[in-house]
Amino acid sequence: MPQPQDRIDPLFENEGAKNPLAVLKQVYGYSAFRGKQAAVVERVVAGGDAVVLFPTGAGKSLCFQIPALCRDGIGIVVSPLIALMRDQVAALKQLGVRAAALNSSLTREEFLDVRRAIANGALDLLYVTPERIVTPAFKEMIGTARIALFAIDEAHCVSQWGHDFRPEYRELGQLGELYPGVPRMALTATADPHTRDDIIDRLALRGAQVFTTSFDRPNIAYEIVERDQPRQQLLRFLSRHKGSSGIVYCLSRAKVEDTAEWLNGQGIRALAYHAGMDRSVRDANQDAFLKEEDLCLVATVAFGMGIDKPDVRYVAHLDLPGSVEAYYQETGRAGRDGLPSDVWMAYGMADVIQRGRMIDEAGSADDIKRVERAKLNALLAICETPTCRRQAILAHFGEAHGGNCGNCDTCVKPVETWDGTDAAIKALAAIYRTGERFGTGHLIDVLLGTVNEKTTRFGHADMPVFGAGKDIPSKTWQSVYRQLLAAGLVSVDHQAFGALKLQPEARAVFKREREVRFRKDRPTTGKSQRNGKSSRAAVARTDMSDRDQELFQKLRTLRAGIAKEMNVPPYVIFPDATLIALAKERPVSSSDLLGVPGIGETKRERYGAAFLEAIRAAD
Ligand code: ADP
Ligand code: ZN
Repeated sequence: MPQPQDRIDPLFENEGAKNPLAVLKQVYGYSAFRGKQAAVVERVVAGGDAVVLFPTGAGKSLCFQIPALCRDGIGIVVSPLIALMRDQVAALKQLGVRAAALNSSLTREEFLDVRRAIANGALDLLYVTPERIVTPAFKEMIGTARIALFAIDEAHCVSQWGHDFRPEYRELGQLGELYPGVPRMALTATADPHTRDDIIDRLALRGAQVFTTSFDRPNIAYEIVERDQPRQQLLRFLSRHKGSSGIVYCLSRAKVEDTAEWLNGQGIRALAYHAGMDRSVRDANQDAFLKEEDLCLVATVAFGMGIDKPDVRYVAHLDLPGSVEAYYQETGRAGRDGLPSDVWMAYGMADVIQRGRMIDEAGSADDIKRVERAKLNALLAICETPTCRRQAILAHFGEAHGGNCGNCDTCVKPVETWDGTDAAIKALAAIYRTGERFGTGHLIDVLLGTVNEKTTRFGHADMPVFGAGKDIPSKTWQSVYRQLLAAGLVSVDHQAFGALKLQPEARAVFKREREVRFRKDRPTTGKSQRNGKSSRAAVARTDMSDRDQELFQKLRTLRAGIAKEMNVPPYVIFPDATLIALAKERPVSSSDLLGVPGIGETKRERYGAAFLEAIRAAD
């Protein structure tokens, strides 16, 4: 017997579907779709396939949840991580949506409940792991139930080019044949052309309409500083974020643990997270991070994939990531909710050496090593850019941006540049004269004319270049070498313990055919480089008066209490944006509440009275 959906003509099946805008308002409490959400929703509600490439925080979830609610039947969502499913299901339940997850963490009872709900048509959305969805057992479980759509979330997992390849995703290419006539969508925040083509190919989505938007994250403020006293620098950055949640990324497990311990000693509540920890502790720390609102999670990159926490207010990097892609993904975990968020990184030449060594020691083929080195250099160039960081980052992804974003450190406080041709020639000469065998530490000793065991033993103290750079301080020479590296004029020989070598392009500088300009490093001590806004916490930057701010904090406490009682993260009750709107607008009646973004009918019923009471009490 054919499945019910086999008999549906996609052109006509939209009849009787609910109105998307009405669902958006009634269920989610939002008054308008954002950007291309409306177009995606329209396409899928009408039964078409779609590939959705939007950056983090753009609102991809609504792109499949709303069509699932508008169309008849269950919307089936493929998701790679159990934690991710759990969060989304919890959030949907709060909205009054009938949602469930099907994965290996279910008890037999829970499993039977889901099965019954499917059979009774009592589910709107079902989250399933990729390996389960293509099995005969799953098809049997669906039985004759109607399927509204398939949404493949984190669709980049299908691609080997991406960072999170999951072989099970490959099987999802069969969905079209297994369930003909059901619209399919793939969604991801990874948009490079290679991955995109792979997704379309592997998931057999050639007929799908592709929706893309700008990958800019305008609410994220970028700041990159030269590492000087990293802990003090970090502390200064964190002092701007008291009372909010954030992530501090470190390269090694040991550094994660040391940093977390040190932060606690400094009065900042911090927990550690890395793959080497005991699983139960790691899970508990992750859970605390999701549920609490003022926790600093110090982690390796093992943390973050599938973390949907929308109110991460800052991301700090104590070590340089390996590529612009990794940097963008990790910083992208800040500000999913669209509120102002800060990302900060401290880096130095030591990172470049260390990363380079990691590339060499990974034992990959030479061409892969070359690609990895190029990726590292691209990030270094962004660190050293004297112009708008956002422009440089987006340019890396092939997107044009006019620059002067006003929300990165180089825009807020423009860096000065200086004519560095003479300095460059000296720095290059020091490399050349000493035989391209030494790292920056020794080269700077030579330039400064430092008499020590090494400069003496190698006879470098007798060279004309010895002491030729006395007029420039050591820190500036470090910056000069980093910038020469970023400009591709020198390279690091990782086989030779980080020795600098000249690149062919350096010739033109020696011959004065090429002028070199360097960015002037800023003093790293004292005040933060982001003046003005810097001393205020991110939420405070949303133009609330002191009085509103006070109410906002009260509402936050109320929300925390409810969340704790229900054992869900606070943002699942209401996002910060909703609390801010409540604090500013101070609604008095239950009907006023429906005008507040993020308050749909179910949430108004459940929590409206408590929040109105708190607002009344504050007046
Ligand atoms: P993504 O999956 O693309 O990272 P989400 O779906 O998690 O993004 O959405 C990010 C945030 O934006 C969520 O808090 C969501 O409720 C909110 N959001 C999404 N669409 C809208 C909209 N049309 N109006 C207001 N807020 C929205
Ligand atoms: Zn900028």
